[in-house]
Amino acid sequence: MRPEILFPLFAPVQTLPGIGPRLSGFVSKVCGPNIIDLCWHLPIGFIDRRYSPDVANVLPGSIATIKLKILDHQPPKSRKLPYKVICGDNTGEMELVFFHSRADYLVHMLPVGETRIVSGKVDIFKGKVQMSHPDRIGLPEEASVIQTIEPVYRLTAGLTSKPLLKAIKGALLKTGVLPEWQDLTWLKRQKFPAWRDALLKVHAPKNESDVGNNSTARRRLIYDELLADQLALTIVRSLNRKKSGRIIKSDNGLIKKIMDKLPFELTTGQKGALNEILSDMAEPYRMLRLIQGDVGSGKTVVAFLAMIRAVECQLQAALMAPTEVLVLQHYKTLKPWGEYIGVNIEILTGKDNKAHRKNVLDGLINGDISIIIGTHALLQDDVHFKDLGLAVIDEQHRFGVHQRLMLNEKGKKADMLVMTATPIPRTLMLCAYSDLDSSRLVEKPAGRQEVETRAVPTTRLEEIIDRLKHTLDEGARAFWVCPLVEESELMDLEAATDRYKFLDSRFKGRVGLLHGKMKPSEKEKVMKSFMEGELNILVATTVIEVGVDIPDANIMIVEHAERFGLAQLHQLRGRVGRGIKSSACILMYSNPLSENARARIKILRETDDGFRIAEEDLKLRGAGELLGTRQSGLPVFRMADIVSHQDLMVAAKDDAKLIIERDPYLNSKRGEALRILLYLFQKENVVQTLRSG
Ligand code: ADP
Ligand code: MG
Repeated sequence: MRPEILFPLFAPVQTLPGIGPRLSGFVSKVCGPNIIDLCWHLPIGFIDRRYSPDVANVLPGSIATIKLKILDHQPPKSRKLPYKVICGDNTGEMELVFFHSRADYLVHMLPVGETRIVSGKVDIFKGKVQMSHPDRIGLPEEASVIQTIEPVYRLTAGLTSKPLLKAIKGALLKTGVLPEWQDLTWLKRQKFPAWRDALLKVHAPKNESDVGNNSTARRRLIYDELLADQLALTIVRSLNRKKSGRIIKSDNGLIKKIMDKLPFELTTGQKGALNEILSDMAEPYRMLRLIQGDVGSGKTVVAFLAMIRAVECQLQAALMAPTEVLVLQHYKTLKPWGEYIGVNIEILTGKDNKAHRKNVLDGLINGDISIIIGTHALLQDDVHFKDLGLAVIDEQHRFGVHQRLMLNEKGKKADMLVMTATPIPRTLMLCAYSDLDSSRLVEKPAGRQEVETRAVPTTRLEEIIDRLKHTLDEGARAFWVCPLVEESELMDLEAATDRYKFLDSRFKGRVGLLHGKMKPSEKEKVMKSFMEGELNILVATTVIEVGVDIPDANIMIVEHAERFGLAQLHQLRGRVGRGIKSSACILMYSNPLSENARARIKILRETDDGFRIAEEDLKLRGAGELLGTRQSGLPVFRMADIVSHQDLMVAAKDDAKLIIERDPYLNSKRGEALRILLYLFQKENVVQTLRSG
């Protein structure tokens, strides 16, 4: 139950004086349904109405608040002309100008012979002082209310600033002092005011910095929001940890057998990740771990060894990847290892023939198949496992949250491992994936080449082709990625086909085409010819964006690079530079380049560090877009901004962790106050779980 102290804040907006049903509809639409929502509707700017000149001395273009005597009304002679009200003070006359306004309203508001306070933007038009559509008109005794610095709020069609201002003022009057939930030392260090003081201050901005993201009052409120969020996540997470999973541990040596035979030594990052995974699996709770590693950092082998651990324990494992090309590739890499240790690995995609499909489905049910590698096809209803112990998802950002869950639910309390080659910036990790444990593969496997990155305008296509001729003669292998035309696969395909034809006319018989609409067998054939060097150029749509591993490829050409996101370009570039030959990435672009596209290309030329690129991407694009807003499960903050409040987010995370470690049920004095904070941000279900815990 919500604490009584918060009742006034959760009263509906229409309980405020002067807010009828119509207005409350609009207000709810912009701010939210309750009084507290109004309090959190923070100003986006302010208007200074303190300037109060005589009519003779007004500064054109300024906002002025002037005391005027109403002298005359001049209704327009035609609908196109404005309605004018002549007024003045003892220094001169001016006109108030209204277009399409109702005369009776104006007569009522500005009666001839009386004095009014009028505030708005003044100008000089044809030698006359004018104010068109004053923002405020009031009685002389209201001067002090009007002649102030007024906060400016985000509005919506149908809602003007005046009633919203009034509503927010009314809402602030309903707030009272709440017990302090923040740590006092922290408050002092940050110079944060108390909650209510912060609210009042934020809504009474005095200058630019008061409405900026860095005002201390604002940061206080934002920190409250972030702490409530992190606290809720931490509580849920500590609860989930206690939820039982299964103990998957063994030492019967299959892993060792593979390790001994690997043609390379695992990097420190890979070893670290593997250890974390294996010890998670050995614990009696359910694993949910993310492996983040740049393209080519070697995630597959780590996942494979984890799957082998499940197999050692007589369980099955599934690896789901977003494209058939990737599935095929994983299958081809892993199948021989399976044969070497006597573990049956099979493949399932949407395009398998009936007989194969039936065999696989049977094998999964009776346990003949230990490891299955597949696309979304794995999620179908008729796919059942004998006993799935580990679900692995490759390139997880290509799947929705529910798809990850669907695969997981094919097992009984199965552990889950998700992998991503799009590193997630630390801040996003905190707020969107805070329920996941994560391992990062930072360094690249030994022997990786630096890729020379160049940006070339499309107009220089012929030059590129000339240079390509030379390098191909020296045995180069090139990817040629075609533009992403909107979200249409069909149009991508057209562009790619055209480019393929063109290149084939220049490099007879050495060019292949790969796109999403091809049959797996066709895809495989083309990939194979490219891999074996029969084909030197592979024209592709973005199907090759994720995961494809062809060590001999050393040139990546991306057409219309300006249409790709930063992370995507980084992924594409990551396809080359894996072998011994020197590598290049050519970003072709069409002018004019937008500011943002220019910045993306610049960053790519500067760095190859996926984690840094991810941070820059976040800055350029904003969090929502980066994760595909809603479906990503990204929390939508009222006040906090994921990009500009990173420091607070990190602090809130640590704070929350400490709080729950010391006071898991929030029973201390601060704990009690923190419960109020959770209720304030409507995390009541979390508070409920505390009670049952
Ligand atoms: P990604 O992280 O992009 O999925 P992969 O798992 O496909 O990368 O690995 C890319 C390539 O690097 C593969 O050919 C793999 O065999 C190789 N590789 C993986 N780990 C190492 C290592 N420790 N040393 C050398 N090569 C490695
Ligand atoms: Mg991969």
